[in-house]
Amino acid sequence: MSQTLNHRVAVLTGTFDPVHLGHIDIIRRGSHVFDRVIVGVGINPDKEPLFTADERVALLREVSRPFPNVEVQQFNGLAVRFVRQSGARVMLRGLRTLSDMEYEFTMSLMNQNLDPELETIFLMANEEYSHVSSTMLRGIASFQEDLSKFLPPAVQSALVAKVNQTHGGRRA
Ligand code: ADP
Repeated sequence: MSQTLNHRVAVLTGTFDPVHLGHIDIIRRGSHVFDRVIVGVGINPDKEPLFTADERVALLREVSRPFPNVEVQQFNGLAVRFVRQSGARVMLRGLRTLSDMEYEFTMSLMNQNLDPELETIFLMANEEYSHVSSTMLRGIASFQEDLSKFLPPAVQSALVAKVNQTHGGRRA
């Protein structure tokens, strides 16, 4: 582990299924604090995402266009390994609620064990989005509800198309 890591580069990993305004808020704020932010779209063997990895990457690239120092990449395997391969020193995370805290605390301790040179830095979620999760938005979208408060227009259309294609949409 002799590689030099850059503490001005941060990596935000996640599933982003799909990306929502809560994620974008963390990406935007991270892009103001760090020289470079890499958004890592992970393949989690325990999750079966609604969007393919390529679709999630494409949506993230589209919504990250206003931030010139943000790039989006796909990765396989452990997040810490991807962060190190990227030459970054920082794992950036968004923290929503008290219930997130326990999971994130455990995860950051495990990551510290796996790679002690990396640091996890948390940004508190914007209160407007602190209750927003991709899981919840996918569920609500299947009832054809308007989600424009939580999703950029491109993501909202992609989600509507995807749920219609997947289970024909449901009516409330
Ligand atoms: P994961 O697969 O890790 O659950 P997500 O795609 O849900 O990935 O989230 C990726 C990152 O964005 C995580 O750091 C998560 O804490 C953060 N995040 C998720 N939802 C929000 C939100 N509403 N506000 C701020 N940060 C969030």
